[in-house]
Amino acid sequence: MAMIHDPHARPAVDCLEALEAGPDGLSAEEAARRLAEHGPNRLAEVRARGPVLRFFAQFHNVLIYVLLVAAIVTAALQHWVDTCVILAVVLANAMIGFIQEGKAEAAMSAIRDMLAPRASVLRDGRRITVDSVSLVPGDIVLIEAGDKVPADLRLLDARGLAAQEAILTGESVPVEKGVAPAPVDAPLGDRRSMLWSGTLVTQGAARGLVTATGQATEIGRIGGLLAGVEQLTTPLVAQMDHFARWLSFLILLAGALLLAWGYFVGHHDFSEMFMTVVAIAVSAIPEGLPAVMTITLAIGVQAMARRNAIVRRLPAIEAIGSVSVICTDKTGTLTRNEMVVTAVETPAGRFTVTGEGYAPVGEIMPEADLGAIARAAALCNDAALHDRSGHWTVEGDPMEGALLAFAGKAAGDLEARRLDAIPFDSRHRFMAVLTEGASGRVTHVKGAPERVLRMCADIDLDRWHDRAEAMARQGLRVLALAGRDETGDRIDEAALEGGLTFLGLVGLIDPPRPEAIEAVAECRAAGIRVKMITGDHAGTAAAIAARIGLQNTARVLTGADIDKLDDAQLALEVTDVDIFARTSPEDKLRLVTALQAGGRSVAMTGDGVNDAPALKRADAGIAMGLKGSEAAKEAADLVLADDNFATIAAAVREGRTVYDNLKKVISWTLPTNAGESMVLIVALLAGMALPMTAVQILWVNLITGITLGVALAFEPTEPGTMAHPPRPRHAPILSGELVWHVVLVALLFLAAVFGMFSYALDRGYPLALAQTIAMNTLVVLEIFHLFFIRNIHGTSLTWAAARGTRVVWTVVIVITAAQFAVTYLPTMQGVLGTYPVPFRDGLLIVAVGAAFFALIEIEKQIRLGLRR
Ligand code: ATP
Repeated sequence: MAMIHDPHARPAVDCLEALEAGPDGLSAEEAARRLAEHGPNRLAEVRARGPVLRFFAQFHNVLIYVLLVAAIVTAALQHWVDTCVILAVVLANAMIGFIQEGKAEAAMSAIRDMLAPRASVLRDGRRITVDSVSLVPGDIVLIEAGDKVPADLRLLDARGLAAQEAILTGESVPVEKGVAPAPVDAPLGDRRSMLWSGTLVTQGAARGLVTATGQATEIGRIGGLLAGVEQLTTPLVAQMDHFARWLSFLILLAGALLLAWGYFVGHHDFSEMFMTVVAIAVSAIPEGLPAVMTITLAIGVQAMARRNAIVRRLPAIEAIGSVSVICTDKTGTLTRNEMVVTAVETPAGRFTVTGEGYAPVGEIMPEADLGAIARAAALCNDAALHDRSGHWTVEGDPMEGALLAFAGKAAGDLEARRLDAIPFDSRHRFMAVLTEGASGRVTHVKGAPERVLRMCADIDLDRWHDRAEAMARQGLRVLALAGRDETGDRIDEAALEGGLTFLGLVGLIDPPRPEAIEAVAECRAAGIRVKMITGDHAGTAAAIAARIGLQNTARVLTGADIDKLDDAQLALEVTDVDIFARTSPEDKLRLVTALQAGGRSVAMTGDGVNDAPALKRADAGIAMGLKGSEAAKEAADLVLADDNFATIAAAVREGRTVYDNLKKVISWTLPTNAGESMVLIVALLAGMALPMTAVQILWVNLITGITLGVALAFEPTEPGTMAHPPRPRHAPILSGELVWHVVLVALLFLAAVFGMFSYALDRGYPLALAQTIAMNTLVVLEIFHLFFIRNIHGTSLTWAAARGTRVVWTVVIVITAAQFAVTYLPTMQGVLGTYPVPFRDGLLIVAVGAAFFALIEIEKQIRLGLRR
């Protein structure tokens, strides 16, 4: 078994030897063998609560306590039927809560798996990307700024490397790292030659040898990273939970007063009065609400995941639905990030390059020797091209892949050994590599033209700036390449400034994504402003923005412009400008803050380590799943599995849908509860016969309250969802409109149920029949209300609206069948005290439901009309 002790204190070569590894990494077979031996590189998971515990946790609820007390009292009074019905309610509630919670937890853990980290390793001398769980001791891992270290690593090679190791050492300032061995007894934080699993690389680049994986790592040993199980909640759900709790408390208090009043003042029979009060309490408390809201969230999380948007922090699901500005990257998000070099310009002339994709086949026109610039493009490069039976793919940065393809078309011998490198950093915008080949030692530099041209000797700066500008205006991404003969085996950084020979400019096309163009238009219709924030050249940015269809493409603010503005000026400017070019990550943070200062709710994308503060600050921070760093993903609320702008628009749509569905659940539940309980309270206070017996109301509550409400969690996106402006930031959900709806529907319920009840009594029907009619009326009203609530943005009177979803119809059919059973089956009649309803009266009940539906639909149309 390959094992090593104290790798931090031994020279790197010793470590390689001890782990039987070479500089080219392991072979695929050896890696597989070691994986079988050492096991997956994964930390033991915290065990979630077991099913038994989860089931019993369902009983921990005010309503259930009330019901259990009621069951005991009714049993003491020997009202066995009541006791059984109450216990059935308790059990059904617990079962449904249990199943829903299980579904929600499963949804969340499936999503956690989608975010499994990946690592770049050398296997068989080639750089490949693997799931971090498959790393084994002896693997050579390539690390760059923003990565989360996938295993314990002994550094073989490091440049400007620093890591933040707070989870292990508590030290929040990044520690500099290097290859030199550390003293054997140095504490963890001082073992500078190691990178520890789970820590974050804040800058630099490195190559490290895996010395320990899984539980054998330092973090595994201290049992760290015990990521707590995330609570399935958002501010809104927490708010409603709180509200439901207070409401329950108030209802119980009112119930106790009612009981005292009924017994002492009204001189009602205690046991009957007690059952009535229990029924009122149960019908008034919106017990199912928090559970249904949770399932709505879980379904929303799944729907987003299906659309490639992975929710990392649940509150984001609410936030993303309310955004009014989306700040997005350009490359890979709005564009395809499938680059091709199409234009080259050297002091010798202008050239066009043909060919498709990353295949190194194509022509240079007019024919010329571009060997020097091609060598620079190929050697100052970290990517690799793979030929998969004619289909060429890139490992690494697609732009660098395109440069490799170009080099393959232009030059023959590109072999050279790398001696030193300065990695690309979006702050200095260039990269340099020193190699040794047939033509000796050369340092090649590539980067943003403004930066690289300044480093070159003897060139006409103005002319080349103009040329770069001209290429950018065509929407090309432009890079300048330069070189310098070197004598030593390290890059002489001081000599780079002003000491380079200019080799030429290359222009790469990166076509816009067609779906991004559509998505930008959709956002516009939804009142959401899309802004592009890019590190690219202003000219390129503006050209792409125009093709994508951003609103204002006339003005561009660059990072330098932003630096000149103070916060107040910036807040003014950001309103109107949609393109920000040559920006740094610090600018992103200022932009988010400036937009928020104007009361806007901002979504911001990011991929690098330095984007983390802006992602945290944004209302919805969005990281790129493919090209994003782990640091960005950890800071983000949402991760895009496909890096695609269209996915952001889809997430907004889903976010709005979830919010609407939460609102629908609330708008359906509260009036239902209010209506049900008011029917009983009014009858009781008026000293009339109750329109429903206590057992009947428990029944209605049991079967409808939970089933019908849950159906709303599955509602698909309404057609008008992306046709109206975003809801204001922090808009309360219990709005005036909602309160009005609760009052209106509760009153209509009251009128309809009492109306039918008195009609039945007037016709001389026995009390049991009148009560059965009243109960069925209530259920029919609830079903009609459900169909009404499904459409809050438009009319419910379309075929699509009436057709509904499978869930809605299943629930409606089940409930209708249940109502027929309790009304017409003799055994059920015995339990619930019901009486067969004549056919004509059955029709009348449905007609009353339809009339109720018509009334509230007309009221909605008037309300929507007034709003327009
Ligand atoms: P976008 O917002 O469009 O994604 P970006 O974030 O890719 O832009 P940066 O990565 O910051 O922008 O790059 C900024 C500039 O740095 C590029 O326009 C290019 O000129 C240069 N550049 C990018 N990558 C490299 C690289 N690997 N080597 C050299 N120069 C690079």
